[in-house]
Amino acid sequence: MENAASRLAEVEANIARVCKPARREPREITLIAVSKTHPSDKILPLLEAGHRVFGENRVQEAQEKWPALTERFPDTELHLIGQLQSNKADDAVAMFDCIHALDRMSLVKALAKAMDKAGKRVPCFVQVNIGDEDQKGGCPINELPDFLAKVRDADIPIAGLMCLPPADIEPAPFFALLAKLAQDNGVEGLSMGMSGDYETAVQLGATHVRVGTALFGARG
Ligand SMILES: *Cc1c(COP(=O)(O)O)cnc(C)c1O
Repeated sequence: MENAASRLAEVEANIARVCKPARREPREITLIAVSKTHPSDKILPLLEAGHRVFGENRVQEAQEKWPALTERFPDTELHLIGQLQSNKADDAVAMFDCIHALDRMSLVKALAKAMDKAGKRVPCFVQVNIGDEDQKGGCPINELPDFLAKVRDADIPIAGLMCLPPADIEPAPFFALLAKLAQDNGVEGLSMGMSGDYETAVQLGATHVRVGTALFGARG
């Protein structure tokens, strides 16, 4: 597939194809086009093809790229998918429509304060350290119920749970576990699946898939 629009059509078709046997509807799944590292001239074709949901992993990069694009396409929805430092909470709340990596109390406090200041509540996914990996962010599974309660107490809208499964292992069991944790904790959304495994994630209940490479090609 040559250009961004045809890649978009291909990813959407793949999602639709796995939805059918899973008895799901494609419109239940939000495709987040992860445009991190890619310049505006690579993002524009997707906007022109009608796509409106994008993901970035760094606040500063988003601030540099997106205001000019959202001016032209005001109905764009921007998701912050990467780790967020507490000192960037104000900027993140101003810039993004959804934040995907809420995983610790210091960030809950910083985001709640930023949302109070901005007079705006930004839905957040709680990231779960699904593979119990030391080097990864995410709330430990055994602390999840308590952490979700604290997020609710801080009046932060919970969009769902998010995970990044361990690399180089079959991801399906981790996606299934995240879906079970969401169900057990009364949470609706599931942000899981990237270019290599979004179809599996959709089969296991993903409501948001974060796809970069399959739409934009390799990052430089
Ligand atoms: C970069 C990134 C993605 C997209 O990865 P691809 O493999 O390029 O689809 C998804 N989620 C997160 C958290 C990322 O940082």
